[in-house]
Amino acid sequence: MIPHVKLQLGKEEEDRVIEVLRSGMLAAGSYVQEFEDEFKRYHGSGYGVATSSGTTALHVILEAMGIGAGDKVITTPFSFIATSNAILYTGATPVFADIDPVTYNLSPAALDNAVKDHPEAKAVIVVHLFGLPADMDEILAIANKNNLIVIEDCAQAHGAIYRNKKVGILGKASAFSFYPSKNITSGEGGMVLTDDPMIAEKVRILVNQGQRRRYYHEMVGYNYRMTNIHAAIGLEQLKKLDIYNQKRIENAKFYDDHIVNQGIQKPVLPPDRKHVYHQYTLKVDNRSALTACLDANGIGYGIHYPLIMPAQPAYKNIATCAGAWPVAEDLADCCVSIPVHPALSRNELTTIVEVINNYR
Ligand SMILES: *Cc1c(COP(=O)(O)O)cnc(C)c1O
Repeated sequence: MIPHVKLQLGKEEEDRVIEVLRSGMLAAGSYVQEFEDEFKRYHGSGYGVATSSGTTALHVILEAMGIGAGDKVITTPFSFIATSNAILYTGATPVFADIDPVTYNLSPAALDNAVKDHPEAKAVIVVHLFGLPADMDEILAIANKNNLIVIEDCAQAHGAIYRNKKVGILGKASAFSFYPSKNITSGEGGMVLTDDPMIAEKVRILVNQGQRRRYYHEMVGYNYRMTNIHAAIGLEQLKKLDIYNQKRIENAKFYDDHIVNQGIQKPVLPPDRKHVYHQYTLKVDNRSALTACLDANGIGYGIHYPLIMPAQPAYKNIATCAGAWPVAEDLADCCVSIPVHPALSRNELTTIVEVINNYR
């Protein structure tokens, strides 16, 4: 069996966790701040605030920006549900703009149309899906022209680069996730990056029950704090991020060079970007035939994602979810993510390529 995802955890993470357990500082503790400092330094960002997850990071970013009931936020229809759920948590409404057929990220042209249809929209959440940076210059230009705040969802793109800049410092604020399947993990966990001191401060208060001083609550906040245990793991993982990403890139290159099946569209890599291959996602004519073949050969895979966000049953009563997003819908019917994790051996890669090249 070749698993779709395989965690990379070593003695470094183990030792740190034991150290935290013995210190008794399980919740708040020095590793949380250290992780924030190292993470923001890695990105060259002004402020980093650790959170309990990527989802909660997105939620507090929106709230810190004053987005709430009656507001609209534009985003892609093709992402993990947390992206648009965070908008709904604030009371705002998501507006979905279709994806680009080549990058699978938010299409600048579709964004432009969405702004025309919803000129009152306050912000746009851009997702760097599967580890590939979105068309940021075009998106930023549209956003600037229309007074839209740009938020980056970097949950799948730690260390990805767009025109010599890391993702996470391209918009007003960004959210990362350290869920175990992501490029690095802390167990559960997330991070907000921003250069804006006001947003950083508000986010910090929101994640800690609305308090700056203990038991004085300036606003109704949340318990969205990262624990010291999670931060200890994240800190060690961050040191290995570039090595892990390099391995993912090499694995992707092997697939780029060796998968030759006519019925398959491989991921596209625009030359001005570093793709970090959170997923290596194929678009296939006959998905059920390919997945049957992968199953038969013990190769793990994922469907990211089988249903676009506005078509989810949970969203059936949201007015902006009635519509058509043909590019995203087509991809949802044809996508398959194959293993690309850093622990893959050359033998496993060769096996996967053979199975895919010979399917049906
Ligand atoms: C994983 C993910 C999230 C949510 O992160 P959690 O840490 O699981 O809450 C948000 N957006 C995208 C695109 C993701 O892949």
